[in-house]
Amino acid sequence: MPTHGATMPPVHEADIAVQGRRIVTPGGTREACVHVRGGTIERVTAFDDAPEGLQLVDAGELVVLPGLVDTHVHVNEPGRTEWEGFSTATRAAAAGGVTTILDMPLNSIPPTTSPEGLEVKREAAEGNVSVDVGFWGGAVPENLGRLRLLDEAGVFGFKCFLCPSGVDEFPPLDLAQLREAMEELATFDGLLIVHAELSEPLEEAAGRLGDADPFEFETFLASRPAEAEERAVAAIVEASRMTGCRVHVLHLSAAGALEQIAGQIAWTKSPRVTAETCPHYLTLTAEEVARGATAFKCAPPIRDAPNRDRLWAGLRDARLSAVVSDHSPCTPELKAGSFIDAWGGIASIQLGLRAVWTEARRRGFTLNDVAGWMSAEPARIAGLPRKGAIAEGKDADLVLFDPDRAAIVDPAELHHRHSVTPYAGRRLDGRIVATYVRGVEVFSDGELRDEPAGRLLQRGNA
Ligand SMILES: [Zn+2]
Repeated sequence: MPTHGATMPPVHEADIAVQGRRIVTPGGTREACVHVRGGTIERVTAFDDAPEGLQLVDAGELVVLPGLVDTHVHVNEPGRTEWEGFSTATRAAAAGGVTTILDMPLNSIPPTTSPEGLEVKREAAEGNVSVDVGFWGGAVPENLGRLRLLDEAGVFGFKCFLCPSGVDEFPPLDLAQLREAMEELATFDGLLIVHAELSEPLEEAAGRLGDADPFEFETFLASRPAEAEERAVAAIVEASRMTGCRVHVLHLSAAGALEQIAGQIAWTKSPRVTAETCPHYLTLTAEEVARGATAFKCAPPIRDAPNRDRLWAGLRDARLSAVVSDHSPCTPELKAGSFIDAWGGIASIQLGLRAVWTEARRRGFTLNDVAGWMSAEPARIAGLPRKGAIAEGKDADLVLFDPDRAAIVDPAELHHRHSVTPYAGRRLDGRIVATYVRGVEVFSDGELRDEPAGRLLQRGNA
């Protein structure tokens, strides 16, 4: 009787042991052997303690990182699948060392603002993903008062805007509605994640532009002043203090807003307000953006070099705790035109680890720091207890990484649906050698596994 069918491990999980000299664990980087059974890390033992009966992966001198947890990804499927999609986004993720993504509730049609909308997304994603995928819900004026239903359906939290989102079907909240959403979320300890730019200063700035050249980056920068972020974060911190709602500030660019975060940390023992930034704010600067180079356009904008230095200082003192991609692609046609007309969004899920590592090492940080910002902290903030570390009981999401190899970014190597990227032609450190999701090799030596091995995640069940 043939037995191979019965003994083949399911595609979703595997039994392996990873032996290496540089394994990045919560306690530091050390030599160790990681024992994986059924896709879960069973034990992390001494290097020589390789078990019998498990397929051995010899990492040698390669660094073994916990897979990145990218909690800020716009997949855009269904509805705007010509912009990206679950298959391409998660293949790019696997190639970039990202093993878990959380999808943003907007740019897809329908947006994820109801349990029905979430179901449509899950159907589009099911069986189509190379890494694990969970979903954020959205808080919009229309669904206030009914957020609990979406929470119970398994979203990880709720995103809102305080200024126009860029798409009509996902309108912003005003400050009274922000407070209302927080009061509701606080009743079930829900998490609000906020695009923190306030409409009013943006409108004032737009009114001051006059006939400034829309192809100059300076013009775009003037249209989205730091003040819009600083005032938004101040309002968010105040509303969190009044309601007790947990809040996470998305893609912080204006370093001045960190003062508000620091103030909040000072008067609470466990921070109710956390903040993330993105690889592009940490690695690119306004000074280098050429005329008409709309690949660099995103909101809030990339700011000047001194601001970038202050963001790194924010990571050093933990006012900023997470670094995630805000991967937000669109078609090349929509990315064309002036800085005012082009779609704002940077596609970088495949390059984030290398971009951040390149700049981090230059500034004296280690891969343990990078793993904290890009894996452990996003997992903690979003509520993914099985993700974010190489430790007993966690999913065996692992990345074999060569930190000393460097290469020029060739857009042809990107697995995103579209290859528009501000990193084209840049020399970035690090090479992703292999990526494992729950012990299953999903990427190795430039090749992606054909069969999608990712799973869909739900809050409370992830
Ligand atoms: Zn975003």
